[in-house]
Amino acid sequence: MAKILITGGAGFIGSHLCEKLLQKGEEVFVIDDLSTGRMENIAHLKKNKKFHFIKETILNRKKMEILIKKCRKIFHLAAAVGVKTIIDKPLESFLININGTEIVLEIAAKYKVPVLITSSSEVYGKNNNLPFKEEDDRVYGSIYHNRWGYGLSKGSDEFLALAYFQEKNLPIVIVRLFNVIGPRQSGAYGMVAPRFIKQALSGKPIMVYGNGEQTRCFADVEDITDALIKLINEPRARGEIFNLGSSKEITIKALAQEIKLLANSKSKIVFVPYTKVYGPNFEDMAHRRPDLSKIKNLIGYQPKITLKESLKKIINKG
Ligand code: UDP
Repeated sequence: MAKILITGGAGFIGSHLCEKLLQKGEEVFVIDDLSTGRMENIAHLKKNKKFHFIKETILNRKKMEILIKKCRKIFHLAAAVGVKTIIDKPLESFLININGTEIVLEIAAKYKVPVLITSSSEVYGKNNNLPFKEEDDRVYGSIYHNRWGYGLSKGSDEFLALAYFQEKNLPIVIVRLFNVIGPRQSGAYGMVAPRFIKQALSGKPIMVYGNGEQTRCFADVEDITDALIKLINEPRARGEIFNLGSSKEITIKALAQEIKLLANSKSKIVFVPYTKVYGPNFEDMAHRRPDLSKIKNLIGYQPKITLKESLKKIINKG
């Protein structure tokens, strides 16, 4: 079995991906500096002899070269996480997203190791032409609004990866993740589902930002990690970009109500102005929905787990 490198493998999605690859008998190497990843996410994997954890930043070129040289595939997940992180730490976020990805691509090209780059639905910015198709325009707000820096950095990563594909023949595939949820996701970086669930389970108010009419589509991490593995193994995916997530929209207000119900909670649902949470220079996306026909046509992708099932699973893990 091939050795596989997962950057950011101690994060929420990374840890589920490790689990799945180990189940398939693969040998997995994780590099993670634990800036947002957590040891507890991978603690249960450490007894597996085919699992190797290296606590290090992906900005350490030397370490990265040692790792990439011996691996046959790379899932590049290490990145700044969440809206809150880019607002609180713009410099660190931008540098890890840009320089980190450059290091991965440069060394991967030297040893011709295929790379799956995880990008984000943030690259579409505030385009409101729904649903988003991979070739659509990206629309960013003012440079003074930190939020758009995230989409810009991920968009640059995509550009870089495509350039390595075109000019260096590096086999790459780019995946734009839409809102992913599941057990082990942290609410510390702004993600809505774990925050609402924690609030509901502790009987504290469920804090909906804005009027709650904004919508998102939530996909379960199991469906997402299955698709990531299929994509890296699919030669026809090389040099291509794919949306990945769910296309079933729900308002954030309805999400709060659903979580309250499923958690059998007495929490109040309260509405908080964006400015109170993210400061004066914040813009939210009113709606965000992917067109999934490209990934469906190529690998037959169809999310299997409903939002309700996914939320129940997270609530039960408490
Ligand atoms: N949100 C909320 N309460 C929270 C966290 C987020 O109402 O405690 C809202 C947020 O303003 C956004 C939606 O939920 O409209 C999804 O936020 P998240 O940060 O999870 O993802 P993204 O905005 O990147 O899609």
